[in-house]
Amino acid sequence: MNAILVIIIAFVLLEFVLSSVLSYLNGRWMTHPIPQLLQGLYDEQQYAKQQHYMRANRRVSSLKRGVEVVVTLVLLAAGVYGRYDNWCKSCFDTGIVELLVFFFGCQLFIEILSIPFSYYSTFNVEQRYGFNKTTAATFWLDCVKEFLIEYVMTAIVMCGIFLLFQWLGSSFWIWATCFLTVFIVIVNLFYSSVIVPLFNKQTPLEAGILRQAIEQAAARMQFKIKNIYVINGSKRSTKANAYFTGFGPKKRIVLYDTLIEQLSTDEIVAVLAHEIGHYKHHDTLIGMVRAIAMVAAYLWVFSLVVSSPELPAALGGTAPSFALSILAFSMLLTPIEIALNPVANILSRRAEYKADAFAARHGLGAALVSGLKKLSVNTMSNLTPHPLVVWFNYSHPTLYQRILAINKIQK
Ligand SMILES: [Zn+2]
Repeated sequence: MNAILVIIIAFVLLEFVLSSVLSYLNGRWMTHPIPQLLQGLYDEQQYAKQQHYMRANRRVSSLKRGVEVVVTLVLLAAGVYGRYDNWCKSCFDTGIVELLVFFFGCQLFIEILSIPFSYYSTFNVEQRYGFNKTTAATFWLDCVKEFLIEYVMTAIVMCGIFLLFQWLGSSFWIWATCFLTVFIVIVNLFYSSVIVPLFNKQTPLEAGILRQAIEQAAARMQFKIKNIYVINGSKRSTKANAYFTGFGPKKRIVLYDTLIEQLSTDEIVAVLAHEIGHYKHHDTLIGMVRAIAMVAAYLWVFSLVVSSPELPAALGGTAPSFALSILAFSMLLTPIEIALNPVANILSRRAEYKADAFAARHGLGAALVSGLKKLSVNTMSNLTPHPLVVWFNYSHPTLYQRILAINKIQK
């Protein structure tokens, strides 16, 4: 057996074991007593329902994880990627078409594998607990649209890297980094005006008490914003959200209609102040710079091994193949990604604390706390996640941690 294949299989198993252990720990921690600060959010009956909801979610994700690992191991052991790549080569003689067809097949397979789980999760779990608002037609249309958008993105990135490699040889990584930087900036700039409208309707927040309150608060925070939009999140789910997107003149604040329904004006202004905090701290920009630095590092390492025959051979390839090389390389990155995940989450949680502090310092701490509590109850989120799971996987501090930190500032 190819040594690299053995390493890839070991990494697949490592990731599976790690995520299973974390899920097990979280399950054990569910019955942990609720911290004093969070008591009274649910009555006994509602809390029992919340615990059932979390258990149902855990069962779906455990099953998904199990099926995925078995399928991945079978594909690797049987050399299916290599065979599929050979078939692509025999049908299409230009490298670029072969590459596009190869990734189309891989992505389509992943999509088809994941659909039964998301269908069950939407129309069984979410439906039973009263969250789902999606119709079957919207669900299937979303699947098709998401798949196509993802594929177009992959195709642009793969073609760019491949053509630069053909023209420049192993020094392609410098120009590929420039190309991806432009790509990331464009996607960030046009995400809300091009991609979001494919799924949702966004309308400018109409004049009235809420808009006035938001504008007054924004002026107090020396934040100029014209683009405040309401998105029809209620088309799919009762769960609420708000986010900040784009930068420069393209920056916009987006509120879910469900958020406006569930939160009071003060609470919405506080959630918005949190988002303005992100903007003031340049979190979108920092995130983008970080992503570009990672891309540059990955591309540089890839440029060192791109011509190695062992990479395609690990996946069952019998000839040099750019598609198999990049796929094998991405699989070899697994442990680095596992190691970087908590680092990225620590940085993200730090930014969240700072955005909360920004809102609290503008006198909106109490409103933010009551808004966060409502959002937590309305999404039945976990009040007692295991600390190790938080450390590994949480991009946001827990509700308890956020309230503690906000209260400290208010004192
Ligand atoms: Zn945030």
